[in-house]
Amino acid sequence: MPHDAPLITLLAVGLGLAFVFGAVATRLKLSPLVGYLIAGVVLGPFTPGFVADVGLAQELAELGVILLMFGVGLHFSPKDLLSVRAVAVPATLLQIVIMIAAGIAAAVIFGWSIEAGVIFGLALSVASTVVALRSLQERRQMQSERGKLTVGWLVVEDLAMVVALVLIPTWAHIRGEVANGNGEGVTVLQLQDAGLAVLITLGKVLAFALIMLLAGKRVVPWILHRVVHMGSRELFRLAVLAIALGVAYLASAIFDISFALGALFAGLIMAESELSQQAANETLPLRDAFAVIFFVSVGMLFDPMILLQNPWPLLVTVVIIVVLRTALSIGLLRLLGQSPEVSVFTSINRAQIGEFSFILAGLGLQFDLISEQANDLILGSAIISIILNPALFAIADRWAKKRAAAEAGAAPASPPPPPRRRAVLVGYGRVGSLIGRALDGAMAEYSVIEDRVDLVEQLQQRGIAAVAGNAITREVMEAANIAEADLLFVTVPDGFEAGRIVELARQLNPKVKVYARAHSDAEVEHLKGFGADLIVSGEQEIANAMIQAATHIIPRRTAATA
Ligand code: AMP
Repeated sequence: MPHDAPLITLLAVGLGLAFVFGAVATRLKLSPLVGYLIAGVVLGPFTPGFVADVGLAQELAELGVILLMFGVGLHFSPKDLLSVRAVAVPATLLQIVIMIAAGIAAAVIFGWSIEAGVIFGLALSVASTVVALRSLQERRQMQSERGKLTVGWLVVEDLAMVVALVLIPTWAHIRGEVANGNGEGVTVLQLQDAGLAVLITLGKVLAFALIMLLAGKRVVPWILHRVVHMGSRELFRLAVLAIALGVAYLASAIFDISFALGALFAGLIMAESELSQQAANETLPLRDAFAVIFFVSVGMLFDPMILLQNPWPLLVTVVIIVVLRTALSIGLLRLLGQSPEVSVFTSINRAQIGEFSFILAGLGLQFDLISEQANDLILGSAIISIILNPALFAIADRWAKKRAAAEAGAAPASPPPPPRRRAVLVGYGRVGSLIGRALDGAMAEYSVIEDRVDLVEQLQQRGIAAVAGNAITREVMEAANIAEADLLFVTVPDGFEAGRIVELARQLNPKVKVYARAHSDAEVEHLKGFGADLIVSGEQEIANAMIQAATHIIPRRTAATA
């Protein structure tokens, strides 16, 4: 039966098991990622019982990568990325070279060929985009210095991968020719071919980037704008998805670029539009679901037997990735002038391997350049390094806290900053706009979160910080800087949504005072439950005002008149 609908089966069983194991992992105070990976192992071909379609899972995982990179592009400008190139380019390239040397050393120890060592080192030098981006998002570090650096690093790595993927088959071919005895002359020619292949590939990347940044940057925001004015949310969502997937697909089909890079460009060109926040929100649920499938698909590749068959080589591989490469990366970043915090956290963010490494290993295997054992080691160490990643972060967090405490102790006590009141206003309709006008004349800074893009545009033209989107999403709340707010006004009419907004705000900023709007006693109770400080019900206030006015004409009953 399952074979009749492999895609639905995979989604149902994959997401279901990921949920169950993710929940158990969270219960055990582990990262949910561990649960997703174990769900994958259970579903994979190496454990008894039901086996899901590995190829399909990987394709779905690719969707996760596309949507993640698209989301990254939406939050960055090409300028942001260029600003880190002076660090990202040398750090990435140096690390790749040193890791290849480590790979060759491993090859000597394990008795493999030098070529196998090169591919092995290359596979261990590249981090997983999904793991790195997810932890940045989880830790809300995407916009920070280390976020920019990590993304810049991923882009350089991706480009290096594009070149490696062209070179590996060419090299296998050259090797084949040499082995067949028609050596020298051919080799020189073939080497020229290889050089040409790389140049053509880089040329295509450049052409794609130019087309995107020159033409795409005009056309895409224009299309989105037109769609918004059609007034259909569904069409807007569709347009965003079609553009993200379409650009990624074209990048790979025409320009031989990875889906991920293509999607990054789609995001970058959309970031120019003030609709980018809303575009990001529309793709969030899909992005998260497919990122989960990504981890399931990684788990599916893992053969637990490797733990018994190759424990020592596996340990060596994990140490190379987690200890050696992290130390190397911290050292390189420090040399390139980064602060200790940025160096440590950026390096830990990348202290794992994933999808790139699988592609390299798969290609190496296909062309007979690496052994099954090397492939197994890459797959096995990937899952272990991903599982270890949250633990590394916990250690680094403790270190950073200690450092901060030591610095605070050493620095002379500075006078506290003068109090500055900040407010966030959710909804700028009939109620919100009145509050906004009052805040304009008050000693406060404020930002507005509003679902309607036209209102947001008007506010922005008036120079008011306004974020387009639904305030029940974390990203939107963060964009409005809720963490720094003293006061939050929730003026949306839907009591259920208001409750979720209050709950989220409380999570992001436990100290903020929350004033919320309600329509009924039930809503008042609901909002109270979420910790609103003041709840004003429209009907109650209307009645109060009328009663107040009426007392001039109809005096209240007193003990004397009763
Ligand atoms: P009014 O009822 O006239 O005060 O308008 C409420 C305003 O809140 C409208 O402009 C809506 O677009 C906006 N709104 C409603 N729900 C949300 C939400 N969840 N996030 C942001 N804005 C919202």
